[in-house]
Amino acid sequence: MDLKIRGKTAIVCAGSKGLGRGCAEALAANGVDLVLNARGSEALEATAEAIRNATGVNVTTVAADITTEAGRRAVLEAAPTPDILVNNAGGPPPGDFRDWDESDWLAALQANMLTPIALIKATVDGMAERGFGRVVNITSSAVKAPIATLGLSNGARSGLTGFVAGTSRALAGTGVTINNLLPGRFATDRLWSNLDDVANRTGQSRDVVETNAKKAIPAGRFGDPAEFGAYCAFLCSAHAGYVTGQNVLIDGGAYPGTF
Ligand code: NAP
Repeated sequence: MDLKIRGKTAIVCAGSKGLGRGCAEALAANGVDLVLNARGSEALEATAEAIRNATGVNVTTVAADITTEAGRRAVLEAAPTPDILVNNAGGPPPGDFRDWDESDWLAALQANMLTPIALIKATVDGMAERGFGRVVNITSSAVKAPIATLGLSNGARSGLTGFVAGTSRALAGTGVTINNLLPGRFATDRLWSNLDDVANRTGQSRDVVETNAKKAIPAGRFGDPAEFGAYCAFLCSAHAGYVTGQNVLIDGGAYPGTF
């Protein structure tokens, strides 16, 4: 299917690895030029070069912490009029809510709620004036089915989800859509470090933790970031103009509810 987004420009935040990289690769494969962001320049440059070589699109890199105002400014200077915005950042650490103080909460809110809201604010009016815009926020299945040890993530991402629910409807008549993609368990560095954390806390071997994690997923496996990216690219496509304000789970059937 031709997604009809060839020649458009996307900002992909936190995109040198994992799910962000999956989104960047899928958009580039459909002819979208990228402004690609992450903090570490080595992985960022390597990913950008791999995408250029594979697709021939223009990839501009911005090595910056997207959770800072300076980082967001640098990304927006590189792409002042983006057609597509993929919001992403590292997830907050797991833990016990009794151990978190205000600074832990503020960091989680900044990364997983206030940063995407700031980038939405900076971009959607221009998208609306041009009559086309797509925003995809990478959130988490924890928004629908909370994970007790990820309380910082559950809380901060739910705040973003509430904001998107209202704002997406307010913009729905302008050609701009805003949707959230909710990953279950995907094979990325983030997942490996979460599994290591469980192994360390429980004294189980890493292999046992991984096997048990896969058993809890009806699909019997972890997701591939390329599968995630393909869904993101579809939501960014011309064909998805009637899809907005949605929370789309991609979790191999792990969420047990009917709705
Ligand atoms: P990952 O494989 O660890 O990749 C994270 C990417 O984000 C890297 O490119 C990293 O590069 C970049 N990054 C992190 N913090 C950043 C910051 N402050 N500014 C700019 N770039 C930043 O992680 P992932 O699994 O793709 O996870 C992406 C998001 O999805 C996270 O919020 C995670 O919590 C959420 N999620 C993941 C899963 C899963 O199973 N993988 C499930 C649910 C939710 P640098 O470190 O160089 O900046």
